[in-house]
Amino acid sequence: MSHEQSQTDDALHVVVAGAGHAGGRVVQQLVSLNFAGRITLIGDERHAPYERPALSKEWLTSEHEPRIDDSPIVLAPAAFWEPSALRAARVERVYDRVVALDAAQRVLTLAKGVEVPFDRLVVATGGSPRDGAIPGANLPGVHLLRTVDDSLALRRALRQSRGLAIVGAGVIGMEVASSALDLGVPVTVLEAGERVLSRCLPPVMSEWLLREHRARGVRVELGVGVEAITEAAECAAGRYVVRCRPRAGQDAFDVAADTVLIAIGVDCAPAFLAGTGLAARQGVDVDETCRSPNAPWLYAVGDVAHVLDGAGGRGGLRQETWRNAENQALAVAQAIVGCAQPYRETPWMWTDQLGNNIQVVGQPDPRDEVVLRGEPGAGPCAALGVRDGRVVSGVLVNAGRERRFLEKLVASAARVDPARLADPRATLKELAA
Ligand code: NAP
Repeated sequence: MSHEQSQTDDALHVVVAGAGHAGGRVVQQLVSLNFAGRITLIGDERHAPYERPALSKEWLTSEHEPRIDDSPIVLAPAAFWEPSALRAARVERVYDRVVALDAAQRVLTLAKGVEVPFDRLVVATGGSPRDGAIPGANLPGVHLLRTVDDSLALRRALRQSRGLAIVGAGVIGMEVASSALDLGVPVTVLEAGERVLSRCLPPVMSEWLLREHRARGVRVELGVGVEAITEAAECAAGRYVVRCRPRAGQDAFDVAADTVLIAIGVDCAPAFLAGTGLAARQGVDVDETCRSPNAPWLYAVGDVAHVLDGAGGRGGLRQETWRNAENQALAVAQAIVGCAQPYRETPWMWTDQLGNNIQVVGQPDPRDEVVLRGEPGAGPCAALGVRDGRVVSGVLVNAGRERRFLEKLVASAARVDPARLADPRATLKELAA
C-alpha cells in the first residue's frame, strides 16, 4: 500500500450493503488488510454473516435442529462478529436494508429512514429468490429458501409433511429433493425446462442425475409449468394442490403436497440502484478489479458482481457460487486499500445429492463436445467440455481429488490429444502436467 493511500485511508468510510457471505468477508478482509478507515456493514438479517451451502442439505437433515449462534456456517472466526470486536475494528453493524442511493451526494437511505453518507460503497446484496408470481406462492406452507430462517422453517415443515412438491429442478430443488428423501418425505419435482441442473451440468450428466433421483423414488416432471397452488379440500392427500400445465397436447394434472418449495432462481438486480444507471439487468457491472466503470467509488461482490470481460475475455461473467463470494471479497478489499489485482476466478461449484459429490469447473455449455471418462453411475467419473479442441469445463462425480487438475486444464484451456482425454487410464493429473 502506498504512503499516500494509507494517509487517505483513515478518513475513508466504506459502506458494505449486504451482510451475507460476500459482504461479511469483505469486512473481514478489510480489517485483516489493516484498512485504517471506518466500515459500516448494512443488512437486515439479525444473524452474523454466514455461508449458505448447508442450508439445503445438513440443516434440513441433521438429527438436532441447528442453531446459527454455535454453527460453523458463521463466517470464521465467529468471535470477529462480537459487538466489542467489531467496535475495536471500527466496524459498525447496522440491521436495516438500503432502499435508495443518491449517487451524486454518495448517500444511502435505509428502510428506517436513516441516511448514511459514504466514500466507497460495496454492493453485496446477493440474490432474492423468485416466486414466479405463481398464484398461491404466499400460502403458509409454500417456502422459498435463501436464509437460515427459511431453512429452519422448511426443516420444521418437512418433519410433519406427507409430501413435498418442489418447483424448479436447479441446485436448490434437487438438493432439497435429496434431503427430503433422507427424511422419508415423498417428493415431486416440477421443472419448466427439459433437464435437471440445466444451468450447471451438460446434458449427459443431467440425464444421469435424473435417473438417480427417479431410481430413488423422486417423481420428476420436466417441461411443466405451475399454474397455481391452492388449498386442498379436507381429508385430501395433501394440504395443497399444485396445478400443473405440461407441454402442449398433454393433460393438466395436480400434485398433492403438504409442503411446497419454490426454487426457480434468484434476482440479483439491487432494487436501490434502479434509476441510477449503475445496475445491470442482473447485478452490477464491474471491471476486473470489481469496480464499476461508471462510478469509481462503487464496487460489487458475490452474486451481484457482473465482471465485464471476465473468464479469459469471453464476455462478462457473474457467478452465484460459494467460492466467488469467498475470493471476490478479497479482491474487493485489496482494491479498496489500493492493491487492486485483476479478479479472474475459474468458476467452481459443488453439490451433494443422493450420496454423490458433484463438482463443476468452468461453465458447461450444451453446445460443447463432451468427453466422458468413466460411466456416470458406475464409480468415479468425469465429463469434460471441449470447445475447439480445448478443455473449457468439466464435471466430476465422486472424484473430488481430481478437481485441482481439472481446474488447471480449464484455467489454461488446455489442448489435449482427444484419445488421451477419453482414456481414463491417463489421469487428469498427467493430462494437466
Ligand atoms: P437455479 O439453479 O437457477 O435453478 C432454477 C431452476 O428452476 C432452473 O432449472 C429453471 O429452469 C427452473 N425454473 C425457472 N422458472 C421455473 C418455473 N416457473 N417453473 C418451474 N421451473 C422453473 O436456482 P435455485 O436452485 O433456485 O438456486 C438459487 C441460487 O442458490 C443460485 O444462485 C444457486 O447457484 C444457489 N445455490 C447453489 C448451490 C450449490 O452451489 N450447490 C446450492 C443451493 C443454491 P430454466 O433454467 O429452464 O429457467
